[in-house]
Amino acid sequence: MFDHPSFDSHEDVHVFHDEPSGLRAIIAIHSTALGPAAGGCRMWNYASDEAMLTDALRLSQGMSYKNAMAGLELGGGKAVIWGNSHTDKTPELFRAFGRAVEHLQGRYWTAEDVGLSPADLAAAAEETSYAAGLENGAAASGDPSPVTALGVYRGICETAKRAFGSPDLSGKTVAVQGVGHVGSDVCRHVAKAGAKLYASDVNTAALERISKETGAIIVAPDEIYDQPMDIFSPNALGATINDESFSRLGAKVIAGGANNQLASADMGEKLRKAGVLYAPDYVINGGGIINVAAEISGAYSRTWVDGKLDVLMQTLGDVLDESLSEGMPTNLVADRIAKARIGRSA
Ligand code: NAD
Repeated sequence: MFDHPSFDSHEDVHVFHDEPSGLRAIIAIHSTALGPAAGGCRMWNYASDEAMLTDALRLSQGMSYKNAMAGLELGGGKAVIWGNSHTDKTPELFRAFGRAVEHLQGRYWTAEDVGLSPADLAAAAEETSYAAGLENGAAASGDPSPVTALGVYRGICETAKRAFGSPDLSGKTVAVQGVGHVGSDVCRHVAKAGAKLYASDVNTAALERISKETGAIIVAPDEIYDQPMDIFSPNALGATINDESFSRLGAKVIAGGANNQLASADMGEKLRKAGVLYAPDYVINGGGIINVAAEISGAYSRTWVDGKLDVLMQTLGDVLDESLSEGMPTNLVADRIAKARIGRSA
């Protein structure tokens, strides 16, 4: 464990098993330097417990950085549940998960991530007071995706301002990969701003809906990289910026909501050298966790959320400016600032 390549001085890592419900879960807490750890719960059918642990550690470290860059008084943590989210879910499983979260007495706040639905989170919340992003309740903040998407749109404009000399997207071409909760709203914002849109998704019904609404030109999933574009906005899976896609992309800006966009950290330097300005994923997509943090505070306020989003956009601008002035890749500039904020050595 302590030699694990993703261990990165995690404060604690908890393994939970509940035989009656079949729960097998890990809750990893990377840092509580800024406050209680917060990060969603992912349900995934891992190939091995090693793969599960790696995912938990990587994701919880990512939440430390994201929460720090969003200026929140929250540390970083993440939960993973081993199972097939289409066939293995039961309310009892999520109640058992809720008991696991409650066991940590507030060191970790959970929320929705890949594989969980609002109903799953509600079942967990029957057993713990440390669940946020709920649809019902006094401070419930609901689906964070619209705030994530607003931050991504504003981040696209911030990045365009530096790459093209203006945040104005009219006359620009934007290619959006993935039109789910976040990507569909990004399409709406970008279309409203007057950009020409290409969009791809493996879900053709969702794609047709958003095309009808925004005029986006539909392209096949693998063809999105080859479109003539100024801006590429990944809003689906991770690791889509890799050597293969990089050789095909003509964009001067990469700015989207997906987590872990770079297949490896050295892609950041490759992009910089090629004159592509990349908005670091965990900075530009911090709007959602800001919305969740408002609920954790106990008194949800949209004004507070908007204020935090303004500061996040300034932080993104600072990262981009520092990268341009120092000749350092944006992902490493962001890591440096995040580490300093949580008191970890660079
Ligand atoms: P989602 O599941 O609603 O949407 C993802 C979309 O990507 C789906 O429509 C899916 O069909 C599509 N997709 C899958 N494979 C694809 C492919 N090969 N090509 C094109 N499209 C493909 O998820 P979401 O909530 O919109 O999140 C999108 C991304 O943003 C994820 O990486 C997520 O981790 C990240 N993120 C989301 C939030 C949030 O508030 N929802 C916050 C931060 C980060």
